[in-house]
Amino acid sequence: MIKLTNIPVTTLPGVGPERAMHLSELGITTVFDLLTYYPFRYDDYQVTNPVDAPHEERVTFQGIIAGAPSIRWYGKKQSRLTVKLEVDGIPITVIWFNQHFLKSKLTNGLPIMVTGKWDREKLQIIGDRTFLSKNEQQLHQDQLEPVYSVTSKIRVAWLRKLIYEAFKEYGNQIEEVLPETLRTKYRLIPRAKAMYLLHFPKDMKDGHQARRAIVYEELFLYECRLMWSRLQDRKETKGITREIPKDKLQLMLQSLDFPLTGAQQRVVDEICSDLESPHQMNRLLQGDVGSGKTVVAAIALYANYLSGYQGALMVPTEILADQHATSLKTLLKPLGLQVVTLTGNMTAANRREVLGQIQMGLADIIVGTHALIQEKVIYRKLGLVITDEQHRFGVKQRASLREKGEAPDVLMMTATPIPRTLAISVYGEMDISIIDEMPAGREPITTYWVKKEAWERIIKFVAKECQNGRQAYIICPLIEESEKLDLANAVELFEQVTLELSPIRVGLLHGRMSSLEKEEIMGLYEQNDVQVLISTTVIEVGVNVPNATVMVIYDADRFGLAQLHQLRGRVGRGGGASTCVLVANPKSETGKERMEIMTETTDGFVISERDLQMRGPGDFLGVKQSGLPEFRLADLTRDEHILEVARTDAKEILHSQEGITEEEYQVLLTKLQTEELMLD
Ligand code: ADP
Ligand code: MG
Repeated sequence: MIKLTNIPVTTLPGVGPERAMHLSELGITTVFDLLTYYPFRYDDYQVTNPVDAPHEERVTFQGIIAGAPSIRWYGKKQSRLTVKLEVDGIPITVIWFNQHFLKSKLTNGLPIMVTGKWDREKLQIIGDRTFLSKNEQQLHQDQLEPVYSVTSKIRVAWLRKLIYEAFKEYGNQIEEVLPETLRTKYRLIPRAKAMYLLHFPKDMKDGHQARRAIVYEELFLYECRLMWSRLQDRKETKGITREIPKDKLQLMLQSLDFPLTGAQQRVVDEICSDLESPHQMNRLLQGDVGSGKTVVAAIALYANYLSGYQGALMVPTEILADQHATSLKTLLKPLGLQVVTLTGNMTAANRREVLGQIQMGLADIIVGTHALIQEKVIYRKLGLVITDEQHRFGVKQRASLREKGEAPDVLMMTATPIPRTLAISVYGEMDISIIDEMPAGREPITTYWVKKEAWERIIKFVAKECQNGRQAYIICPLIEESEKLDLANAVELFEQVTLELSPIRVGLLHGRMSSLEKEEIMGLYEQNDVQVLISTTVIEVGVNVPNATVMVIYDADRFGLAQLHQLRGRVGRGGGASTCVLVANPKSETGKERMEIMTETTDGFVISERDLQMRGPGDFLGVKQSGLPEFRLADLTRDEHILEVARTDAKEILHSQEGITEEEYQVLLTKLQTEELMLD
């Protein structure tokens, strides 16, 4: 039997080359594409009455016009048409915007049907669809109408008819793909029926039932594919097998200034068992800003060193490279490790020396920026690569670092708190560790949102904090289009604030400074020789100066939620109760909403959920190639729960052959092996 995914739409009656072209603009080229071109919404024309109709919902009334319509014009094109309608003996008002052509048709005593948003308090409905003739009313009343996204070239009525024809012709060829056991377990209707009902539901119940079945199926198959390819990879790529001397590692843990949090300890255990296993580690470590990922990285690097390998830590900025190198040296030098830094901005001689140390195996830990992955860098025996703030790197860059070793273990760290379900679906091929606990004694951060007019008050507050020995950051407007302007703003603000705060010492940091200058100013800030640091967003990720307790973000509405959260994370790091001040006069509603979310919560996971809701999963990671899978029906935000269930099922089935019969398992396996499930 030919698969539906191989049958072109042109085999259907009435689809010639031209229509085929228009359909292809919608992504429909095969019969299968057509059958699964699902509506994105249903309009319900079930007739109701003013007593039962819910407030602010889209409802349908049938009634009799009681009186003459009146119209008001706003300019030449905009109009507001009003008429009284009697529905079940209750007089209500119908309002139409810009539908003046209806006026001559609305004669007193005419029975009409109207659909629109209902205002229960004012007894008003805003008409968006109006059915005047008996015929039309009969056709639509008590109907559920699927709404498709189409182009101007394709009429919905024609598309629906074509879909109907396609089901008549090919509907009996739709194969079941879910194991029957699962279908029975979740009482899912058969695939062919579900696909049909999505297009032609009798009522909402039909629609829900059908949706549930298809969404589960899509997500289950997706998870199966992910897990399958991962199992295959595991068999093929041999990693490093090693034994970590636990006693030495324990000694190092005891030498830390603080005990690890429970979450840190758990993650360390997960990493160590990965390091020891013969498989290559491929692990994503998520932890909110300030949760203490760096020390986990240090422990992993030390464990890797103990088993005789070099380790590399790649970070997105030079400031961060310096900072990490310093803290790693403090921790690891006493234990006899050689820590080196490699960045783009080194003197030739210095660079040659470091490259030599790396190649000869004298350097045990290499910390650096992208410089780590350049061709000239040859590692002697690379056993572990870690990327910090991994979302700042491209897929390619991360891969190149990995290729510097034979089959090094890989750990990626991120503070961008991708909601768990999303992380699973994006990074499904990786293991995920989460630090979901903050170190004890963290002081809370209070966030205020103020208008620019309050600047004087803000400066007074900053001054007071500095007089109490604290430090502050003031982050400058970010102007994406122009780096120059960015800089000008920072310089201007620096000059202004220096005057306003005198004699408090103010410093300036921006991306155009040389590494040396940056290092110097960060050094001064760390020593509290500079008390207020005016900065562009170069300090956004990772910077750790615990004594800083005030974060002022100017023009905060120009930043995304994730970035604001990162910036705010620079304070509340141990220096006492901290404050974040968002200075913004946002113009847009979403701008206001972002400010409000920031004042309501400091939980990175909550923030990212809200971010996701506001932006949709597509642009959550900024770019299309975020790797987020796209589904025909499933929606990763909305169907989070089903995704979790589907994942658990897929795992049980593929890892331990549980949950379905032997025969079903074999069928599923064959499909996965032949990549058949890739197509539909
Ligand atoms: P992030 O996860 O954002 O990279 P860091 O690793 O920079 O966080 O840690 C933030 C601060 O918390 C650092 O000053 C670090 O020394 C401190 N810290 C880390 N773990 C603990 C702990 N278990 N107890 C107390 N302080 C800790
Ligand atoms: Mg960090």
